[in-house]
Amino acid sequence: MTRRLLIIFLLFIITKQGLGWGFFAHKKINYHAVFLLPPELMVLYKSQIDFISEHSVDPDKRRYAVPNEGQRHYIDLDYYGQFPFKELPRKWNAAVSKFSEDTLFQYGTVPWWIQIMQTKLTEAFKEKNKMKILKLSADIGHYISDAHVPLHATLNHDGQLTDQKGIHAFWESRIPELLAEKEWNFFIGKAAYVKNPGNFMWKRILESSAASDTVLQVEKKLSQEFPTDQKYTFEKKGNSTSRQYTTEYTIAYNKLLNGMVERRMRQSIFAVASFWYTAWVNAGQPDVSKLSDKEFTAEEVKEFEKLIVTWQRSMVPDKEQQ
Ligand SMILES: [Zn+2]
Repeated sequence: MTRRLLIIFLLFIITKQGLGWGFFAHKKINYHAVFLLPPELMVLYKSQIDFISEHSVDPDKRRYAVPNEGQRHYIDLDYYGQFPFKELPRKWNAAVSKFSEDTLFQYGTVPWWIQIMQTKLTEAFKEKNKMKILKLSADIGHYISDAHVPLHATLNHDGQLTDQKGIHAFWESRIPELLAEKEWNFFIGKAAYVKNPGNFMWKRILESSAASDTVLQVEKKLSQEFPTDQKYTFEKKGNSTSRQYTTEYTIAYNKLLNGMVERRMRQSIFAVASFWYTAWVNAGQPDVSKLSDKEFTAEEVKEFEKLIVTWQRSMVPDKEQQ
């Protein structure tokens, strides 16, 4: 690993908290989604599987560089009342008329943004533009996965309202990092055609919202029953010490969640593959097999490097990341 890569890697570790599925899970989701695709599509995605996995975290990097990026990763549904939030129109224009664009931006736009990305990906397939297809596929995989995270659908996104700060990264990073490779199963079958991407995503987001209470309440209860001195461990990283949930506590929490994290990860993989597949079908099933051996142009590579540099430069530590 070069020094530059190492620095980037370390920055990833520092900033991964509170950004949606942790980097580990995002990469795994995009990676496994490739294997659900039909052969005509897999030929392209599998040849670029490293790209698809690595760039699954680009949207989180952009959060520091693009002003409107943050809101695309979540929706605080409980701002709009009670489940199932009938007061909130599912269509963007109707929602804007009722609540104003500023409000929607403030409380998150993930269900609508995914639909915009889906249209863009369909266009990219029509153009047979390899760069765009891969970039947008990696990106949409990120947003779809974020929409499956229960704490991305509530105002209490890091347990800050219930004295459970840290629960966000606990659920989406600590648990998968500890268990995904050892215990979970990602054989999921095949991608399916999604007739109505909007309805599909709203359904998943409502599931996330419904699960958010469980995520919070179960941890609260466990925290009260678990010996305090066995809840956290302290890890030394360079000059700083960071607090981490112990392995025992993580396993106990995961058990009480009854497979929820694994289930949401599996559902994310299925959804991501199905959205890629649907975009391709809606574009008229273009032959992408010839694209698989085409390399990126120097300009395209530069564009990615620029993204990384912008992200590094705009890194400002804020309270949410501490
Ligand atoms: Zn995210």
